[in-house]
Amino acid sequence: MARAENAEIIDRFEEFYRTYYRNEIGELAQKYPNEQKSLYVDYDDLYRFDTDLADDFTAQPQQMTEYAEEALRLYDLPVDVKLGQAHVRVHNLQQTTGIRDIRADHVGNLIAVQGIVRKATDVRPKIQNAAFECQRCGTMTRVPQSDGDFQEPHECQGCERQGPFQINFDQSEFVDAQKIRVQESPEGLRGGETPQAIDVHIEDDVTGEVTAGDHVTVTGILRLEQQGNQQEKSPVFDFYMQGRTVTIEDEQFEEMDITEEDKKEIIELSNDPDIYEKMVASMAPSIYGYEEQKLAIIMQLFSGVKKDLPDGSRIRGDLHMLLIGDPGTGKSQMLQYVKKLAPRSVYTSGKGSSSAGLTAAAVRDDFGDGQQWTLEAGALVLADQGIAAVDELDKMRPEDRSAMHEALEQQSISISKAGINATLKSRCSLLGAANPKYGRFDQYEPMGEQIDLEPALISRFDLIFTVTDEPDEEKDSELAEHIINTNYAGELFTHRNEVATSNVSEEEVDNVTEDVVPDIDADLLRKYVAYAKRNCFPTMTEEAKGAIRDFYVDLRAEGQDEDAPVPVTARKLEALVRLSEASARVRLSDTVEQKDAERVIEIVQNSLRDIGVDPETGEFDADIVEAGTSKSQRDRIKNIRGIIKELEEEYEDGAPEDEVFERAEAVGMDRDKAEHEIEKLRRQGEIYEPTQGHLRST
Ligand code: ADP
Ligand code: MG
Repeated sequence: MARAENAEIIDRFEEFYRTYYRNEIGELAQKYPNEQKSLYVDYDDLYRFDTDLADDFTAQPQQMTEYAEEALRLYDLPVDVKLGQAHVRVHNLQQTTGIRDIRADHVGNLIAVQGIVRKATDVRPKIQNAAFECQRCGTMTRVPQSDGDFQEPHECQGCERQGPFQINFDQSEFVDAQKIRVQESPEGLRGGETPQAIDVHIEDDVTGEVTAGDHVTVTGILRLEQQGNQQEKSPVFDFYMQGRTVTIEDEQFEEMDITEEDKKEIIELSNDPDIYEKMVASMAPSIYGYEEQKLAIIMQLFSGVKKDLPDGSRIRGDLHMLLIGDPGTGKSQMLQYVKKLAPRSVYTSGKGSSSAGLTAAAVRDDFGDGQQWTLEAGALVLADQGIAAVDELDKMRPEDRSAMHEALEQQSISISKAGINATLKSRCSLLGAANPKYGRFDQYEPMGEQIDLEPALISRFDLIFTVTDEPDEEKDSELAEHIINTNYAGELFTHRNEVATSNVSEEEVDNVTEDVVPDIDADLLRKYVAYAKRNCFPTMTEEAKGAIRDFYVDLRAEGQDEDAPVPVTARKLEALVRLSEASARVRLSDTVEQKDAERVIEIVQNSLRDIGVDPETGEFDADIVEAGTSKSQRDRIKNIRGIIKELEEEYEDGAPEDEVFERAEAVGMDRDKAEHEIEKLRRQGEIYEPTQGHLRST
């Protein structure tokens, strides 16, 4: 641009400031440079002032920012301050660009993207203008630094020799720098898509403001970086953004649009007397059975009400659920379906593919050039305010295990490592799936013992369901029918779509797909859930309170006999409250009714029966869940070992096996269980077989 034209643009900016930003600049002048270094300009204001100027700004942000900053330096200030290094940062663009929609056309433009901060390095000084002091003659040679590699002088500006040089820190200029990686928000993704990300470089006063897990809008200039290394440069480039502003979005920020029409449909559905059945039928319809688990998952989608107490503390509304079961029982399929239904959901495996795993991690990797520490958000942080569906939870890394307790109860994850001290939010519901400890359930062992998770963690789940895969002729034939029908429906549908001459009619397809098509379309259900979570905050009626209270007290009373194990702890009480709130939300009700309480009591009862019940006595036993062994289990182990010890004294060759069984039976343990126990003790190396048919303890 010609010189005169430059001056004209600078004049335009000055005029713009006088019209729109008089007060803001006055404030900046007072706070500059310690408290504030930037003038934030709303793009809308610029656009209202001069649409051409605004258009130019997005097309050539680098140039235009320089003019805007020059205009700011020339601005007549009321106080005697110089805004020498002040930045002008334009934000609030009219539209945001989807991270996956960024193309070469955008390079050099000012764009805005929205997403969640997946990684953030710590803030470190970056040299902008390096002063090299010649060790021979003392002359200072200055070399401005750009984004690429560190530049050293070719020769000394004084003696013209090649150094050696030393950097003089006082004479050099540094700026705070940080790199963040912004990933598409889970809620913006259509079910099942893998999120994409863009790296953002930020400098000076905008650094250190955001941390991993924050939902942000970033405005910045799209730049290119060549792939490959010094030796082998690739013709392909990567995008990155030179971030100008980073705004943390409101926590309630939801990308999902719910139109008036959707709203009408949602409210109409909520009045349907069969709404619960319809919801259940819309949850993973290709999976047969599991009505109760599906209903529980539906409630998890809606979640209970998060409560702020007058004393400042908080009770979580999110429900945590665990499915433990034999392999091949459809657990993974159900978890994957949840991702389709839940706004802001993340599906991952406990083994985790990223270095942050399930919780969060401070790592030193390529992202920080191997030098800087990077804080990376894991699945439970990325699913903040949504659902984290974690498959193979039992295989999670040891670091995650310890961080998990805090994540589930306090709903935050603290990281303190290498100078990084951060608390990340993880206000999500966890839906976990796990296999039993030895791969398959063993009917003689208490369930609690077969879960490869520590008791303290297990007790944080509101509901635990076990899924066993035992042959059952009637069920098997129904399951087979369902799976074959599902597949047949898929065959017909595919045939009709793929084969031009297909003679399969639409009617035929419709006939067989009836079972497999969800009652409520997944898109509508997502909106329904989002609508309920935004608008519905039910409170308990007296009847509901009473029902829950009675159930809990009765349950506890079962444990009042002399020798009985304690049945359940108060944690279950909160679970009941949360679940019944969720049940009320399903029909968008403002009140939690008795029938909500009854509905969830039944689920909790079955879940307890699944897991908390001592399979030998039939009594509920909180110890199974919260300490990992049942009381009768402990007694039994003591018994068998005791019996063997006793007999060892009497027989020279060790305890005869037959005799052990006999005595075991005498104290009320049948042969199968005794055999099982012996096998287990043998496996654990606590007993051995000195001669055939004899046992000895070690
Ligand atoms: P898991 O994760 O429990 O090991 P998967 O979810 O991987 O099991 O399921 C294995 C396969 O068996 C899947 O293809 C699934 O569709 C099928 N399957 C298992 N149980 C059912 C069921 N109840 N209804 C329909 N399909 C089922
Ligand atoms: Mg699986």
